[in-house]
Amino acid sequence: MTAVRYYCPRCGAIAELDREGYLADKCVTPVPLDGWEYADAYDDFDDSAADGVEIVCGAAETEGEGCGEVYYLSFVKFEDGEEVDPKERSFVPPSVDGPSIGESEDGPRFDFDP
Ligand SMILES: [Zn+2]
Repeated sequence: MTAVRYYCPRCGAIAELDREGYLADKCVTPVPLDGWEYADAYDDFDDSAADGVEIVCGAAETEGEGCGEVYYLSFVKFEDGEEVDPKERSFVPPSVDGPSIGESEDGPRFDFDP
């Protein structure tokens, strides 16, 4: 078993999970990916059919530190021999430092002189 560290996408607290030798992690996100199934971190998730792990920030895996929110470690997932890409679904990239560089509700601005 290998202890692998993950960072909470909300507060940056470290969670440590025991993983089998191989790693096929795809991403860590504050919300579950559409189409992925998640096991609990305390379950034997490496042997389960789950596509990822649900980690509670502040639970045993994080040694008591953290924000108490749930986040999701997603494994690389294959369907019919092809890697499933969640980008076309509701993929949210992980971000540790809070405020996103988002576009406003009015959309991007193009009011510069060409
Ligand atoms: Zn956290």
